[in-house]
Amino acid sequence: MIFTEMEHGDYEQLVFCQDKQSGLKAIICIHDTTLGPALGGIRFWNYDKEEDAITDVLRLAKGMTYKNAAAGLNLGGGKTVVIGDASKDKSEAFFRSLGRYIENLGGRYIAAEDVGTTVSDMDYIFQETDYVCGISEAYGSSGNPSPFTALGLFRAMQRTAKEAFGSDDLSGKTISVQGVGNVAYSLCELLHESGANLIVTDINEKAVQRAVDNFGAKAVGLDEIYSVDADIFAPCALGGILNDDTIPQLKVKAVCGSANNQLLDIEKHGQMLTDAGIMYAPDYVVNSGGVINVADELEGYDKERATSKVNNVYNQIDKIFTIAKEQNISPQHAADHLAESRIEAIQNVKSVFTQKDKNILSGRRK
Ligand code: NAD
Repeated sequence: MIFTEMEHGDYEQLVFCQDKQSGLKAIICIHDTTLGPALGGIRFWNYDKEEDAITDVLRLAKGMTYKNAAAGLNLGGGKTVVIGDASKDKSEAFFRSLGRYIENLGGRYIAAEDVGTTVSDMDYIFQETDYVCGISEAYGSSGNPSPFTALGLFRAMQRTAKEAFGSDDLSGKTISVQGVGNVAYSLCELLHESGANLIVTDINEKAVQRAVDNFGAKAVGLDEIYSVDADIFAPCALGGILNDDTIPQLKVKAVCGSANNQLLDIEKHGQMLTDAGIMYAPDYVVNSGGVINVADELEGYDKERATSKVNNVYNQIDKIFTIAKEQNISPQHAADHLAESRIEAIQNVKSVFTQKDKNILSGRRK
């Protein structure tokens, strides 16, 4: 059953990690390492069934292959899920045990934070292996990813505006923002500086008030956000919010936000947006600024270099819209195509003998 699924999705490796003393139960999935080591976060989740954890790790690891490839990173895709209750099952021993399993993969998988894990958890892992990002600043961390995710989102929005309105200038444009948390607050700051008008909503009243006070945003109700008169809608809270109920309400010409899995049904709702003449910027490319920034740690973190790579999200979105037009496919499918064709092209590079191969050979004789 598992091998059938691995074969179907072309997965490389699934590793089950167990440590009785610390209580560790984790599954590391390496989907594809054509472009480089598989980078992906560690999700700590109280799964009801082991099967659910396996399904989740397979889905998330493959998603990281596409995200890293479409972002232009030299990284493959992987993920770890840890089965447990993040509020009571964590300990130093737990993460150091996981760190040893990661070390044993010899760099094929590089860990990072995800839902349920924190910087201090990554620091414990770092005691056992170098193959981890998102460690604390004292060890050379790239810091809080949210401002970088916001910068990538802002650049994606500029390119999306160019597609929808003929110019990437956002001044005078009205952007509706759902959820003004870590990413969207930084986005609102960039948009405000650019002369855009903001309409915001959030379940957290303080978050809304902060955007109203600091950026002159107009506050609206939670359900009202879909039908406001705006140019671009930025979903930055939840997945599945582009669906049968919400799409008919939209008056915007484009959707570009940081939330994951915005389309409830990729085929159906992607098509509904296209039919309604609404330009959709694919979420996993739009929100890739955070992973681009954290991945820079692998080269010895340099904020200037990381910022310049995050700015490149503009060009990745440009490629996606070009592919979508040329092939008459949705932007979501064009993003998948960009990722797949990049992996295929690198896979097909002729394997001429290089100095690097020579070093590998001479290493055996030492
Ligand atoms: P966050 O928790 O700081 O912000 C989310 C905000 O949405 C919160 O203020 C919350 O109150 C609000 N919210 C929740 N439910 C809502 C609802 N029903 N209606 C309106 N508002 C609601 O999270 P974040 O780090 O800013 O991330 C935002 C989104 O972007 C998430 O979907 C996240 O998965 C995705 N994302 C974030 C990053 C990152 O670097 N932080 C990277 C990639 C993707």
